[in-house]
Amino acid sequence: MCACAKCEKKPPHNRLPVRLSAEGEYIQPMDCKKCGYAWEMPVVEWIYSRVGQDVKFKPPAQRKGKLKDRAVVKSDNSSDGTPYWDVVDLIQFDDPERPDWIRMSYYLRDRNGMLTFGGQTSIAEPIAVWRKVLVDVARQKQWFCNLLKDVVHELGE
Ligand SMILES: [Zn+2]
Repeated sequence: MCACAKCEKKPPHNRLPVRLSAEGEYIQPMDCKKCGYAWEMPVVEWIYSRVGQDVKFKPPAQRKGKLKDRAVVKSDNSSDGTPYWDVVDLIQFDDPERPDWIRMSYYLRDRNGMLTFGGQTSIAEPIAVWRKVLVDVARQKQWFCNLLKDVVHELGE
């Protein structure tokens, strides 16, 4: 997805500042360092294109895995117009006990216009731990329980 359309490999490429297209869509421009070919894609598409890449957690909780899947939701709640894209990732680690982890994080367009990953220190847990967190918090806090019930209701379960 991120490969240069001309080289058709995965050459090193430059990512350029995100811009808003005439149609009102955020676009991620790029150019190929090898052949100079320039192209662009919607930011959401670029964020999805990371699926399949390696994921590294830095020490102290050092781990290596792969980004197996990801969902992107455009967030429109910033007061200063900074665009955010919330992402929920499925990450697979070499851990036979608990291979599948879910990470909740986000991308934003930073002050220099660059698309920046904001999830380096965000919460990531095995799916079984997520379940425990959600149940525990819902039992502690009515406002969280209300949210979960509302979600379940909307999903028609
Ligand atoms: Zn190229």
